[in-house]
Amino acid sequence: MQYISSRGQCAPVTAAEAICLGLAPDGGLFVPETIPAWPYSWAELAAMDYPQTAAKVMKLFLDDYSEEELNQMTRAAYNTHNFSSKEIAPTVKLTDHCYLLELFHGPTAAFKDMALQIMPYLLVKAVEKRGQKQEVVILTATSGDTGKAALEGFKDVPGVKIIVFYPHGGVSPMQERQMNTTTGENTFVVSVKGNFDHCQTAVKNIFGDPQMNVWLAERGKQFSSANSINWGRLMPQIAYYFWTYASLMRQGQIKAGDKINIVVPTGNFGNILAAWYAGQMGLPVRKFICASNQNKVLTDVIQTGVYDRRREFYQTSSPSMDILVSSNFERFLFAVSGYDSAKIASWFAALKQNGVFTIDEALQKKFQNWLEAGFADEAKTAATIQRHYAQNGYVLDPHTAVGVAVYEEYQKTSGDSTPTIIASTASPFKFSHSVLQALGKEVPQGEEAQLEALAQAAHKPVPDSLAQAQHMPILHNTVVEVEGMAQIVKDILSR
Ligand SMILES: *Cc1c(COP(=O)(O)O)cnc(C)c1O
Repeated sequence: MQYISSRGQCAPVTAAEAICLGLAPDGGLFVPETIPAWPYSWAELAAMDYPQTAAKVMKLFLDDYSEEELNQMTRAAYNTHNFSSKEIAPTVKLTDHCYLLELFHGPTAAFKDMALQIMPYLLVKAVEKRGQKQEVVILTATSGDTGKAALEGFKDVPGVKIIVFYPHGGVSPMQERQMNTTTGENTFVVSVKGNFDHCQTAVKNIFGDPQMNVWLAERGKQFSSANSINWGRLMPQIAYYFWTYASLMRQGQIKAGDKINIVVPTGNFGNILAAWYAGQMGLPVRKFICASNQNKVLTDVIQTGVYDRRREFYQTSSPSMDILVSSNFERFLFAVSGYDSAKIASWFAALKQNGVFTIDEALQKKFQNWLEAGFADEAKTAATIQRHYAQNGYVLDPHTAVGVAVYEEYQKTSGDSTPTIIASTASPFKFSHSVLQALGKEVPQGEEAQLEALAQAAHKPVPDSLAQAQHMPILHNTVVEVEGMAQIVKDILSR
């Protein structure tokens, strides 16, 4: 299977090449030329464990990897050494017709682990398949969770260096501590005086800078990305939507072939795009519901067709969704437009130059039948956390709470009682301060005390990795201006 760029200005590549490159050379994103159909029955799906499900899904997209290779990788990534749940990603009931897909049982307690535990295996194998001798330099911009998950996934992987940029003061103290305590000879963490969009844009510019690429090539190195702009990061996420469907069947909540709704709290449109791919492959889905926080650029574009990033940026209690430039929305538009790369290139050029573009009406109509969108502001998010705790003792993290709030609003106005999966993207312990506040509890001084207080309220233990981070030395403390990012990359790579 070949991968093509959403901007249409470079030749098709193999899956291994797409994963090595990350971003397409013309600045677009790689997408599979066709979307494969799920070839197994629902009964067969229900009999698979998580590693099997993931290997089967990935094999459909990665025809240059053997089934045996993929089985080995998924067994090495998705096991009880790395995940605190035997099910890897359990599906639990929240209320009638409504279930949470808990994606936060990995080593960093957020859903990014689902992809970043497997991605280093995919990348190392891709490098091998291309017969490449170059060192791979992973450059990553993070709004908090990707950074740590990527550092954990790539640390001490031979032939790879990883540099993570995060917005100074724009991530939670826990997220910052998790990143800055990362061990490993090949890991580098840099705090940037700007917001996530500044970091992400600068990283994209560094990727695309011809001089920088020559400089790298002379030193036997090549860039790649661990952000969801890399197909190798996005694609593993498709698997857990098949997995949750199988879980609902096994629990007797649905019958084979029944439709479900999928709600995803999102900022970069990555996780919901993975759900959409599952739907295109044949997973029976009635509605995809895109949930935003106060930074509701996606809600607006889905409802009105106008993508306008010229707006105030809010720092919210769900920082991993504080995003105004939503990279993966480009993949989605490219796919639903029937791969109209000229259109996509002109829209994203307009977004870059003027900060706005308008999707034509025909295309809008095409997705509005099955794509819904809504947002939750800070007060609503907090109220949702509080109410579910009071009603059934379940503690939602703020990102998941955004998804739950948007679903409840949708459910009220539509009366739709289709069984619904909400992607639960983080452990509440990762955001204990905001969660304790939302619960109306006293917030003690210091992170460790906050973790303890939340453990008592939730009647659940603090996840091991978060507890351990409290006692590890800070190993990274570099701070740069946005303009200094390219130089620090050179400095790090010259050491
Ligand atoms: C990254 C992240 C999101 C948003 O993911 P997208 O790739 O933007 O869909 C949501 N919640 C948490 C906890 C995250 O870490």
